[in-house]
Amino acid sequence: MMSQSPVLQTRSGTVVEFTGVVKEFSGLRALDGFSLTLHAGECVALLGPSGSGKTTALRVLAGLESTDAGSITIDGIDVSALSTSKRDMGMVFQSYSLFPHLSVGENVEFGLRMRKIKPAERRSRASAALALVGLGHHFDRFAHQLSGGQQQRVALARALVTEPRVLLLDEPLSALDAKVRVQLRDEIRRIQTELGITTLFVTHDQDEALAIADRVAVMRSGNIEQVGTPEELYSRPATPFIADFVGLSN
Ligand code: ADP
Repeated sequence: MMSQSPVLQTRSGTVVEFTGVVKEFSGLRALDGFSLTLHAGECVALLGPSGSGKTTALRVLAGLESTDAGSITIDGIDVSALSTSKRDMGMVFQSYSLFPHLSVGENVEFGLRMRKIKPAERRSRASAALALVGLGHHFDRFAHQLSGGQQQRVALARALVTEPRVLLLDEPLSALDAKVRVQLRDEIRRIQTELGITTLFVTHDQDEALAIADRVAVMRSGNIEQVGTPEELYSRPATPFIADFVGLSN
């Protein structure tokens, strides 16, 4: 039997749906009728200049911020009343935010401990998650002994160990130097594809967005100006702003 193409797989169902989401901070609209669909298994990059609302979109999906209007569904269920822990998300942020006094393995196990999973299972699942990110032999080292890139790999393992429905990455590469950034970007893409996990990747870096995502949603002033595959954005930018942002006017 022929295997399904990645494109067909990504169209196989809706996992996350933002519809007309509004979020205001003291009268300023960080999200202004924001609508976006994430299909099962795809990686969507939210790309845009600083202040365009990318992080706010990720935070309202995670339940770290409330919304003022509109709806967000995960697998068709409205999540507005659900706390962050009930939304089944794995998250990685720009700063590593590991516990420095815990070992790498204990950091990764943390979410499983919260879920009252027994020690033996915790250890085997954390080991598997660390192997997935290429740190299988680092279980007993301390977080502070690792490089920045390795710490972000641990953060990724920690986000994935609970097998979340959706992976949220907010500028996960921004604190790293250029070479490590490209390595980890490619590694994240490999893991994302291998697991088939629905992913929202926030970045202000167009090269990063175009390299990692199945589709790129370009944000401007709290809304999406255009969403499409990297090829579509390159070949048919809808506005001069898009052309500029994907580097066509340089
Ligand atoms: P981006 O991630 O694209 O840089 P943000 O989502 O962080 O943009 O911010 C969008 C807008 O909302 C900005 O004008 C920002 O100053 C504002 N904003 C975000 N979070 C807060 C907050 N907690 N309090 C006040 N204003 C905020």
